[in-house]
Amino acid sequence: SGDGGDEQVYKVGIDTTYPPFEYEEDGEYKGIDIDLINAIAENQGFEIELSPMDFGGIIPAMQAGQLDLAIAGMSITDERKEVVDFSDPYFEAGLSLVVGEDNSDVTTLEDLAGETIAVKNGTTGATYAQEQAEEIGFEVVQFNDSPAMFQEVANGNAAALIEDYPVIAYAIAQDDLGLQTVGDRLNGDQYGIAVLKGENADLLEKINAGLAELKESGEYDEIVATYLGEEE
Ligand code: GLN
Repeated sequence: SGDGGDEQVYKVGIDTTYPPFEYEEDGEYKGIDIDLINAIAENQGFEIELSPMDFGGIIPAMQAGQLDLAIAGMSITDERKEVVDFSDPYFEAGLSLVVGEDNSDVTTLEDLAGETIAVKNGTTGATYAQEQAEEIGFEVVQFNDSPAMFQEVANGNAAALIEDYPVIAYAIAQDDLGLQTVGDRLNGDQYGIAVLKGENADLLEKINAGLAELKESGEYDEIVATYLGEEE
């Protein structure tokens, strides 16, 4: 950081492994979130420095003053709004239930009584599972990143996992993971860019202004199409 000029350098928390939103390839960070935050920074004249970490560490790192903002496929939730301020929403998402591709017994969480569900630490999927674990009677096992969680179900150690549907759909389409989504989507939510609550009103204003301009100009759609193809 600090490559001269008056431009401010903001530290940006990203999830280490979350394609198509953020991932590393050939030593570079790529994905919808990466292109989006770079485009917003360019549009609004600020510099960023990416700081990859496990998703569960992002909000604590913001609270510790180690990050200025986060873009991490992070769902806007009331619980998080107690500690962060979110930008305007930038992507529609929500949770899907995922099982091994040969499993034809499970279509709902209720079908998982007595089983183990894998989740990722600090996510909406983890909260969703934990809220129903006792009543339905399943175990919840936590992982620090999505690939480790996928592996747990692929190798049969857990019966199911919960992941954001755009992420699991992309992962299944890209790789032979041995997984399938089942049943209806569990909920719907929207991704937002987060800044520490009450600390960064100016930055949040720039982020929202940049986001609006990218949507207006068509650049937002181009970024999404780069990773997901033309959707609408
Ligand atoms: N959207 C989910 C959440 O906000 C998962 C995010 C992620 O795993 N990077 O909790």
